[in-house]
Amino acid sequence: MSETNSSLQGRRAVVTGAGRGIGRSIALALAMAGADVAVSARSQAEIEGVAEQLRALGRRALAITCDVTDPAQVARMADAAVAGLGGVDILINNAGIATSHKFLDHPDELWHQILAINLTGVYYVTKALVPHMVAQRAGRIITIASIAAKSGARYIAAYTASKHGVLGLTRALATELVAYNITVNAICPGYVDTPMTDGNIANIVKRTGMSAAQVRETMEKTSPQNRLIEPEEVAALAVYLAQDSARGITGQAINVDGGSVMF
Ligand code: NDP
Repeated sequence: MSETNSSLQGRRAVVTGAGRGIGRSIALALAMAGADVAVSARSQAEIEGVAEQLRALGRRALAITCDVTDPAQVARMADAAVAGLGGVDILINNAGIATSHKFLDHPDELWHQILAINLTGVYYVTKALVPHMVAQRAGRIITIASIAAKSGARYIAAYTASKHGVLGLTRALATELVAYNITVNAICPGYVDTPMTDGNIANIVKRTGMSAAQVRETMEKTSPQNRLIEPEEVAALAVYLAQDSARGITGQAINVDGGSVMF
């Protein structure tokens, strides 16, 4: 099979957190590669807008609101996606939040909120959709983790724990699902130029009195390439991992970070 722009023709994908940022870019890139896509998040207007763009590319698209922390909503979203698309071949676990706080007075609610979205949310969504992949003996599960899945940093204990957690889940599932021809991988970006990063910059400006330009420059300098990653760069890797030619890649955590982490 040739790996052209239509290498995912007829494949059916679910993307969580697809209203903006990385998830939106992945949904668009999957559609450009030929896939039909169900996009999901809490903000209905955002996912409706993305679904319109997918339809404009000539693909089938569904916008399904869902909070990944609620297993009942996740079950409804999974049922609607599978019924609407006729099955599911590709799951992109992308929904996530990033909030920072010093550990010494870390609020328990913040810990639970970050773990609920970034880790337990991935568990719920994967658990709801994986039986369909098992039944068809084929599937791709791709989770957007972070370089915080591999390395620690100040003030992001909960985020780091949640991302290390999804990497553990990825590796465990890769072994458990290998018999069903399902690959399970994580993508680990460094700082990506998205609304999440804009929010993080605004918070640091508030806390430190630095200018937004200074904070952005500090973030850029964490990469040897001295820049933020574009969402489209993460999306291109997700599309590759979803293709037939990536069938030998499973249980991996691939960095897209300009070389700041090398393991
Ligand atoms: P954005 O904040 O720009 O977008 C996040 C998306 O997730 C939105 O569509 C949001 O929609 C959705 N989301 C958040 N909470 C929930 C929830 N409880 N249920 C369902 N959907 C939810 O983030 P990014 O695009 O920057 O990040 C996407 C992923 O990439 C995250 O997992 C993040 O941790 C990871 N990442 C990001 C990096 C960065 O620098 N930006 C670096 C490394 C990893 P809504 O609020 O409407 O629900």
